Amino acid sequence: MKYETVIGLEVHVELNTDSKMFCSCKNESDNKTPNINICPVCSGHPGTLPVANKKAIEKTIRVGLALGCQIPEYSKFDRKNYFYPDLPKAYQISQNENPFCLGGSLNVDGRDIKITRIHLEEDAGKLVHSSDSDSSLVDFNRSGVPLMELVTEPVIKSAKEATRFAQELRLILKYLNVSNVDLEKGEMRADANISLSSAPGKLDGVRVEIKNLNSFRSIERALEYEIKRQQELLDSGGVVVQETRGWDDNKQITIGQRSKEQSHDYRYFPDPDLPPVYIKDSGIDLQRIKSSIVELPQQRRSRFQEEYSLSDKETEFLVTDKELGDYYEKVVSELRNWIKETDITLSVDDVMPKLSRLAANYLLTDFQSLRTGDELPIDPENFAEFVCLIYKDKMSSKVAKEVLKEMFNTGGDPSQIIKDKGLTELEDESEIELMIEMVIKENPKAVEDYRQGKEASFKFLIGGIMAKTKGRANPKVIEKILKEKLI
Ligand code: ADP
Ligand code: MG
Ligand code: ZN
Repeated sequence: MKYETVIGLEVHVELNTDSKMFCSCKNESDNKTPNINICPVCSGHPGTLPVANKKAIEKTIRVGLALGCQIPEYSKFDRKNYFYPDLPKAYQISQNENPFCLGGSLNVDGRDIKITRIHLEEDAGKLVHSSDSDSSLVDFNRSGVPLMELVTEPVIKSAKEATRFAQELRLILKYLNVSNVDLEKGEMRADANISLSSAPGKLDGVRVEIKNLNSFRSIERALEYEIKRQQELLDSGGVVVQETRGWDDNKQITIGQRSKEQSHDYRYFPDPDLPPVYIKDSGIDLQRIKSSIVELPQQRRSRFQEEYSLSDKETEFLVTDKELGDYYEKVVSELRNWIKETDITLSVDDVMPKLSRLAANYLLTDFQSLRTGDELPIDPENFAEFVCLIYKDKMSSKVAKEVLKEMFNTGGDPSQIIKDKGLTELEDESEIELMIEMVIKENPKAVEDYRQGKEASFKFLIGGIMAKTKGRANPKVIEKILKEKLI
């Protein structure tokens, strides 16, 4: 039988505020010293009072506005009651019926994925299970860290699309600077709901929820596994039971954890310690938040392709690495200045598409391979000059590699490096000619072969000359002289 895959995601994201959600403790859940960022509020002492973090609310609303959600005038916090050792109050402050954001959508590879809601809650602490004893330890550094949850409608159609959704969401959150979204640190994690329905648009399948997926790979693999498991179950006449499952990364399988009967009744009720939020009276300025929203990845994609004549691959690279994309734009603007100031014979409109592609090309290859970590150690002006020197054939690609390496090491400007290292182009043709004659003399066999019609021998000789000139001669000049000599 053929089934339709139906997936809905619930994505949790730790926000990058300075302090926690309801107290003034540092929001620094990865501190190596356990229980250092805690206070009576976030470690659940009775009689303490939470105060909502306005910055966290504003960040949540910023995401909502960026994704086209409505921001209701009224929202509130609720208590979600359950016991767990890393939840000292025995309830989590969350939002049930009145979240900060409703509706909206996120475009993934051309398809709009509808969003149900975005709300704000607090993260729990962490249990540390030590392997050499039979006890578990609890670290409350993460307890009370602002946690934003985004829920999608059940409209995602494949494991791949779910993964792409999570990746695109992560990128947007990075652009909006609301979270560091480091998946390895658990700053973004997803629950994936999946059912198989009998026809498109129908929701007649039984839903399984896979909890706590903490990498894009595990989202994709877990969903692929679960689609197959449910398919085989249905095909063999079985039934899917509604349950929560976990993903075992070692075995690459999902495992049943609890069925619907065992599921919690959270007994939500409005938190009596926290006043509801009326946007009007809250000092939250929606207009100001809206105007703080930067250009988002999707807009940047179209603009980069149009403005800089880049390929899909180049664009994607520079959009995914936002810092590199920002850097690239600085380089391009320097290139524009450089042409205007130093070479009035070049027309900006003619040359810019070529220069901007050349700059992207070098950024994605040689530049990337020299880069260690996130730093961009070369001044954009120097990199622009480097690109111009290549464009004007002032450096062979071999010399360019050496110069770029030196620029990474010293931060110097390329023309100075060329001078200092004696890499200046050999402009004296008689000097080049001399070296060509030497190479011809050293390789009589290749010369003979070429004269017999073997093209490869010509390339071989060029290689020999390039080596002899240490890449300092213009390859076009070499080719011209060599041809003349071999006739
Ligand atoms: P709950 O309150 O149990 O968490 P919700 O109705 O809020 O359930 O849905 C939670 C998630 O499950 C949402 O992401 C939603 O898109 C998804 N979901 C709902 N129905 C289905 C279904 N039939 N198949 C797959 N996912 C579903
Ligand atoms: Mg749920
Ligand atoms: Zn605290």
